[in-house]
Formats: sequence, C-alpha cells, structure tokens
Amino acid sequence: MSAPVAPVTAPPPAARVAFLDDVRAELPDLRLLTDAADRESYRLDETTYLAAGLPLAVALPETTSEVSALVRLAAQHRIPVVPRGAGTGLSGGATGIEGGLTIALTRMNRILEIDGGNLCVVTQPGIINAELKKRVAAEGLFYAPDPASYEMCSIGGNLGTNAGGLCCIKYGQTRDNVLGLEVVLADGSVIRTGGRNVKDVAGYALTHLFVGSQGTLGIITEATLRLRPAPSPKSTMLAFFPTLDAAGDAVAAIAVAGLVPVTLELLDAATIAAVDDANNLGLDRDAAAMLLVESDLPPDAARAELDRAIAACESAGATSIIRAEDPQEADWLRQARRLALRALERVGEVRMEDVGVPRARVPDLLRAIDEIGKRYGIRVATFGHAGDGNLHPNFIFERGDPRAEELTEAARSDLYRAAIALGGTVTAEHGIGSSRREFLPIQVGAGTVEVMRSIKAALDPLGILNPGRVI
Ligand SMILES: Cc1cc2nc3c(=O)[nH]c(=O)nc-3n(C[C@H](O)[C@H](O)[C@H](O)COP(=O)(O)OP(=O)(O)OC[C@H]3O[C@@H](n4cnc5c(N)ncnc54)[C@H](O)[C@@H]3O)c2cc1C
Repeated sequence: MSAPVAPVTAPPPAARVAFLDDVRAELPDLRLLTDAADRESYRLDETTYLAAGLPLAVALPETTSEVSALVRLAAQHRIPVVPRGAGTGLSGGATGIEGGLTIALTRMNRILEIDGGNLCVVTQPGIINAELKKRVAAEGLFYAPDPASYEMCSIGGNLGTNAGGLCCIKYGQTRDNVLGLEVVLADGSVIRTGGRNVKDVAGYALTHLFVGSQGTLGIITEATLRLRPAPSPKSTMLAFFPTLDAAGDAVAAIAVAGLVPVTLELLDAATIAAVDDANNLGLDRDAAAMLLVESDLPPDAARAELDRAIAACESAGATSIIRAEDPQEADWLRQARRLALRALERVGEVRMEDVGVPRARVPDLLRAIDEIGKRYGIRVATFGHAGDGNLHPNFIFERGDPRAEELTEAARSDLYRAAIALGGTVTAEHGIGSSRREFLPIQVGAGTVEVMRSIKAALDPLGILNPGRVI
C-alpha cells in the first residue's frame, strides 16, 4: 500500500562536508555550531539513559526562511534533520542522530501577535511555555496547556509531542488548543494549516496531524494557539487514602459525579515521601496515595466543586482531607507535584514511564503496576494525571545498578502489555519517540502502522525528518 520509509543511515563524510559548505555559503549569518563540545550538549534529551548520536552540526535559525533553506539543503545532501525545542522530552524524540543536523528552534522565540478579539496568540515555536503564559496573562488571557515542565519546555516541543500536563482533564492536550500552524516540509517548502477560525473543516485535519508527530512530518515554525479569558485563581485540596485502590475509586467517583476539576493528580506513597522530603510540606506519609484536586471556577462555584470532590473522596475511603488556605499554599502544593520527578531523582536513578487507560480502569492499572514492581523486585513510584487515566510509573534503581537496563526493559514491556490489555496506550503524552517504537504496532496494529508509514512516505519520501522516531 505505501512506499517504504527510508532507513536511517549516517551520511558519508563527503556529503557532510559538502552540506556544511553549502549551508555556510547560503546562510552566512546563521548561527551554526560545529565545535564538538557544543554539539555534545545536543546529543541527549531528558532520556539520558538512551543511546544517541552526535550531531554533525547544530543550527540555531531565527527565521522560517532559514529553516526552509536548511531543510532544502539537508534534503539535497540526504542529511537527517532533528527538530529540537528545549530538549526536555521523555521519549528520545530530539536526541542527536550521528552525522545529522539538529535544528534547535530556541532562538525563534518571539510572540508575533496577541489577538484578544479572536482569543488567540500567534507565536514562534521557541518560546518557553511559562513565558507565553505570562505574556498572555498580562493581557487578562490564559493559555491552558500546562506540562509539569512548563518552566523549561518550549511551545514547539509541546506541539511536537502534543504535550499534556496538569489541566488536560478540563482543557485538553496541546492539540486541543491549536488553531493553525506554519510548517516547513521535508523539501524545504512552507505551508500553512488552519488559521484563526474556531470552526474550519476545509480538507484534511493537517494541523492535528502535525501536532504530536514529533518532527517526523515537518518542522513547525509558527503556531496560532487558542486562548481563553483568565480563569479565577485555583482552589486546591488534597485527599489521602489508605490504599491505592481507594484513590483509584475516588478518581472514578469524581468522574461519575460529573465533576470536571482543572487538576486531578495522583501520588503514591513512595512519591508522597520523596516530595515531602524535598519540600517539607508535612504530607501524610502513612497514606498509600494522595489526590491533588483543583478548581479554577469563581470562588463560590469552586468551593461547591471541591465540596463535591471531597464527598466523592470520602465515600471512596479517604482518611484525611486538607484544603489549601490561600492561593500561595495552593501554589506550593501544585509546585511540589510538578517537581515530583525531580524529587524522585534525589532517591535514585529514575526511568519514567507514561501509560494511559480509560479513566475507569485506573484502579486496574495501579494494581498491574504494583504487581510488575513485585515481579521484578523493582522499586516503583507512581504519580500522574489520574483524571485523564494517565499515570507515570517510575522505576527507581540505585545509581550505577548494573541490572537497571535489563530490569527496565522487562518491566516496561509488561507495563505496556498491561496498559494495552486494559484498552489503554503505551504513551499518553510523552510520545513514541525512539524509546517505544517496537510497541506501536502492538498497540495500534500492523494495518494502522501501515497507514502511518504511507503518510510519512508521502510527506517525507527521502526519510530525512527525524528518522528512526515514531515509526
Ligand atoms: C520534570 C519534567 C516534567 C515533565 N512533565 C510533563 C508533563 O506534565 N506533560 C508532558 O506532556 N510532558 C512532560 N514532560 C516532557 C517534556 O517536557 C514535554 O514532552 C515537552 O513537550 C517537550 O518540549 P521541549 O521543548 O523540551 O521539546 P524537545 O524535547 O526538544 O522535543 C520534543 C519533540 O518535539 C519535536 N519538536 C521540537 N520542536 C519542534 C518543532 N518546532 N516542530 C516539530 N517538531 C518539534 C522534537 O523533534 C521531539 O520529537 C516533562 C519533562 C520533565 C523533564
């Protein structure tokens, strides 16, 4: 049915030299890093345990036309291209390819327009998520997508991965907040998709296709993102449970009650202890699990929403409830959750996973994670966006433990199969990248992968855009 996707091959030395010569001749003002030490710092993303190649060069373009010229020249010389944002990805999507060109979009970080009348912002991809949020907040507006890494990650990376985060239960993932894109294609040509229309069904949904494609179909050089009027400051509560099952039941009860809090996060006992050690919050360390529930409705409605969430938690067996007294206390609690991965990294070497299941299966997923940890004798700490059915089990090893690779491979394979058996997914927000490719056909089936391959082959016949990632 489809043309084969070209395999990843390191370009021969002569092609590398000729490519760099052409880039320097055509783009004399481009910032191009070719020094080995500079290139080395673009080898890895946050998946530091994955093997990755050393880029031939790192380009830091400032305009779409520079990106376009770079990709056109890369296509001519068959040089693989890795688009990169801030490098905080957790699936090896932006790691270096040996002899490839990494295009870091970090200098393309300008907001081009805040259009309050149409509730949208037009931006370059290199801006950091938190900076964009801050800039639109100054106009009384709100950009919803909120990955825990929001102070580090770029909008381009969020678009590349279809990032999720702490408020998807109410506002959706990044894809749900994108209206239009400018994209550089694999031959260097530039297209636009979507625009400022809230409704637009002209042709195929290309905007949605590019979002989440991890730089394998095109490089996003501009995005029109949906804004909302700024909501009220969040009201926040914590509920502690004697068992993981009880916390899972509370998540299901909150959904069944028809509540749509802005945040519904779960932390298990190991994560509670690590977060408490790192932040001295005085959390209940005897609890098996904790839920963080937040409302961004106006104060009276927020109080009513949290009252109903508390009732659902208590009926599921919550042993204690804490309500944040003021927005500052709420900020501390939310920030502690955001830093859960960093808190666990103080305990040992962490391999973070990203499985998702239909919400009602969260208790089953929690049980499966527990069994897998016991099966392999691995310490597991789990936290995540329980309201979306998306959990992050973290396998934790002593630093330098020689069994880490082998045990992680076995445990993650069981984890992915368990998630799939529950009707779930091997990755809910971090992406297939280079770390989960073998599990894509197991989840979606060979026929579906074949359709994906035909899309890849149509848009990138030479296979130069982020080869070896996703499919
Ligand atoms: C502490 C911590 C917490 C995190 N929490 C969350 C979370 O809550 N939710 C979540 O979803 N993720 C989370 N992440 C993962 C990560 O931050 C996100 O995946 C984020 O979207 C990556 O953005 P980045 O700018 O770092 O992109 P990078 O890592 O540089 O790139 C990510 C992918 O996007 C592609 N890409 C980058 N820019 C472009 C572009 N302009 N055009 C096309 N493709 C592009 C890359 O090729 C790569 O495949 C977390 C990471 C850390 C370290």
